[in-house]
Parts: sequence; C-alpha cells; structure tokens
Amino acid sequence: MTITSVNPATNETIRQFEALHKDDVTDAVNKAHEAFQAWQKTTFEQRKKCMLKFAKLLRDDADEYARIITLDMGKRISESQYEIEYCANIAEYYANGAEEFLADQSMNQDDADTYLRHEPLGVLLGVMPWNFPFYQVVRFATPNIMAGNTILMKHASNVPQCASTIEDLYKECGLPDGVYQNLFIPSEFVEVIVSDSRVQGVSLTGSEPAGRAVAALAGKNLKRSVLELGGNDPFIVLEDADLDDVVEKAVQGRTVNAGQSCVASKRFIVVSDIADEFMKRFKQAMSSLQLGDPMDEETTLAPLSSESAAVKLQEQVQSSIDAGATVVLGGDRPDREGAYFNPTILTDVTPDNPTFDQELFGPVATVYVVDDEDAAVELANRSSYGLGGSVYSTDRERAERIACRVHTGMMFINQPTKSQAELPFGGIKNSGYGRELSHLGILEFVNKKLIHLG
Ligand code: NDP
Repeated sequence: MTITSVNPATNETIRQFEALHKDDVTDAVNKAHEAFQAWQKTTFEQRKKCMLKFAKLLRDDADEYARIITLDMGKRISESQYEIEYCANIAEYYANGAEEFLADQSMNQDDADTYLRHEPLGVLLGVMPWNFPFYQVVRFATPNIMAGNTILMKHASNVPQCASTIEDLYKECGLPDGVYQNLFIPSEFVEVIVSDSRVQGVSLTGSEPAGRAVAALAGKNLKRSVLELGGNDPFIVLEDADLDDVVEKAVQGRTVNAGQSCVASKRFIVVSDIADEFMKRFKQAMSSLQLGDPMDEETTLAPLSSESAAVKLQEQVQSSIDAGATVVLGGDRPDREGAYFNPTILTDVTPDNPTFDQELFGPVATVYVVDDEDAAVELANRSSYGLGGSVYSTDRERAERIACRVHTGMMFINQPTKSQAELPFGGIKNSGYGRELSHLGILEFVNKKLIHLG
C-alpha cells in the first residue's frame, strides 16, 4: 500500500510513500518503549536543547517547510509560513517552560510533607489531521517529549510529505532514535497500537467519527485519551458592535485556512437591529475574495485540502439548500481545475435542516438573525459542539457576560477564536475533552503522583 501526496490546487500526484506492514508497527512500539527507558531519565536541560534546536531548524528553512505544507494540502503560502513560525514558538514555549510546569507541587498539609511529582507515562500515540499539518503534530508532540514521553505519530494520509519532514526535523534536533517516530499506516492499524500494553495514551485531533472510534479503543484498553474534534463556533454580533471591524473579522474568522479550521467562525448570529447592514457588508467582503493558486501571494482564498473534501462540502451545501436554506452568495464550485469552493453565505437554516448541527469545513458561512442577546445565547447553545466562539460589542462587560453564558471551551471578545502557545485549547460536548497548549497541555499525559512523607 502507498500513501500519496496530491496537490489539491492542481489534482496532480506529487509523491508516494510506502506504507508500513502490521509487523513494522510492533517493531515501532518496541523501539519507542526502549527509547522511553532512557529518555525519561534525561534532564530538562537536555530536552530543552533539542527543542530549541527544533525551533531554530524550523525558522532556518521556514520557506521550504511552508512550501511542503501548501503542496500537500493547499493552504495559502502566507498561512503556511505563519504555521511554521507558530510551531517554532510552541517549541520554545515548552522548551523554556516545561521544568516550571512540571515542578513538584506542595500539597500544604500541616502534619506532613506532601507533594505531587509529575512523571512521564511512556509511549504515546498521536492521530493527527491534515488541516494544520505541522501545528497539530507539534502541539501534541513537543510538550510530551519535554515531559519525558516518547511519541508514535499516525498523521493524516493526505499529508505524507509533512509527516516525513517533521520526523526528519525531530531527528535532526538531536532526539535519540525512537523518541519520535512517524508511522505511515492506515487508520485500521491504530487498534494494534492502542491495545499494546506498553502504549499509555492516545491523542486525536479530527472528525467526530474518528474521535468516537479512537475513544472507544482507548476505553476498551483503559488508556488515557485527549480528543480535539470538530466545532461549530458561534460568532455573535450585538447591535452596538463596530461593524467595520466585525465584517473584517467575520471574513477572516470564516475563511482562515480556506474555512478548514475546527475553530473557524461558522455560525454568524446577528441581532436584528443591524442584521441588514451586516449582511450587506459581509456579502460584499466575501464576494471580493480571490480564489487562486495558493503559492501566489495575491490569492485570498485557497482550494480545499482535497477533491473529496470539496465534493463532501458540495453535498452538505446541497442538502442544506434542499432542506430550505437560501443561498445569499456562492453555494457551488468554480469551473476550474483543483479542489476549489466558492465563498458561500446561507440563511434560513432551520433546526430541522441537516446542516444545522454539522461542521461545514470550507468557506461556507451560515447567518442567523435573532431578536436580542438572550436569543443569541440560546441559539449559540443549540449545538452538539462546544469548542470556541466569539462575541462582538463595544460594551466589553456586556460581551463578557454573554461569553460566560455560551457553552464552549473557549470564548473571545471582539475577535474570532485563536490559538496561542500560552492559552489552553480544547472543548466540551462533542468537540472532545482534555486541553492542549499552555501549562495544562503538558499535564495530560503525566502521572500526578502523590508523595506523602509521614
Ligand atoms: P478524519 O477525522 O477522518 O481524519 C483525522 C485523522 O484521524 C487522520 O489521521 C485519519 O487517518 C484518522 N482517522 C480517521 N478515522 C479513524 C479511525 N476510525 N481510527 C483511527 N484513526 C482514524 O478527518 P477527515 O480528513 O476525514 O475530515 C472529515 C471532517 O472531519 C472534516 O470535514 C471536518 O469536519 C472534520 N475535521 C476536523 C478537524 C479538526 O481540526 N477538528 C481536522 C480534520 C477534520 P486517515 O487520514 O488515514 O484516514
């Protein structure tokens, strides 16, 4: 079996990689387990040296790595460059912070010295998606390597060039053999790894079905798991919002990564007083996006990650229209080669519409008009997802009150949900569980061990 990189801007095959056999997987687990025996005993200084070098390697050749991302999955080259720089930031953040985040924690008992130690667990599996092919891996692997764990990585099968390059980088930065291994495997092999007694946990970022499948395996084998699944972020616009700013953020929030982000703004919930003006300006701004070659700096809307992703999105949009949605803009694909989708705005998506509670992974915005802030909160909470969201108002306190009433893992005022090394990232409900990034991210796969000196 081979794993193939196809350029979604042209549908041309770029490169093929040989997939592993089942026996190779067991060999990889052996190697990761052996590597763990030594790696867990290394000092933070030793680990830090590797991660700082990793960050430097990324920056030294940022343009080349960005090119690989764009070739594998089609995002705009400037977004790929940003992703590489952000990965370098994450590596530095954990290189410099891990020792403090994992320091012994006193439990302050009167009668005894009691504290928590943070010990690495062992071999971990990452199952990662293609939408931010460097960032998703680095966000999981870097804190865990700094904590003393070792990593097996099953990356999405449409980004093999990224997967292989990341493995090279983790080797080149000085990590001993076996601390980080990329596995070119189909998703069926994940069970072999999760059920191996030497594997201590699994982290998956991806779709809800993939999350359910991996969580079931983790549960069956009593393994720790972290899931970062889809989202349907509300973007709540109140009547006192600054519309110039809001419209700019709305376009940016919906079309980041060509709309293929779990925390992209997806449901635009606008109070009726300013709904007409919002829609007029939003439509104008969305229709001025320039579809084009993602390598071209002038392009403002890239193709989706693959032809199958574009076909799936078209099916979802069509099913929404068939169920009564109104197309305000777009709704279809342009007549050109590549996995492109036109910027789209839908309205009249009622709760009985199949797409009401679906994640639309592309440049498709759904706009809802509501009477007031209470109705906005009610609608925002009518979702099986609970990842991020944002509220727009010139009254910060009012926006903050509303943010506290929305059931998600992250809420932002006057800007779409964003990811930053220092900020915890994760959701509730069907968006998954656990937190990544920040000091919380490094605590997911460590043994918080109590030591009580009587
Ligand atoms: P998937 O969830 O299928 O892929 C994500 C990762 O999970 C890949 O590495 C994939 O491997 C793996 N995987 C898939 N199914 C299983 C399984 N049963 N057991 C173990 N591993 C599995 O995402 P898709 O690419 O199919 O995208 C579908 C939808 O998912 C999107 O339209 C979007 O709604 C959502 N999504 C959300 C993301 C997010 O950031 N939250 C990221 C990507 C997708 P392989 O590639 O080999 O199938």
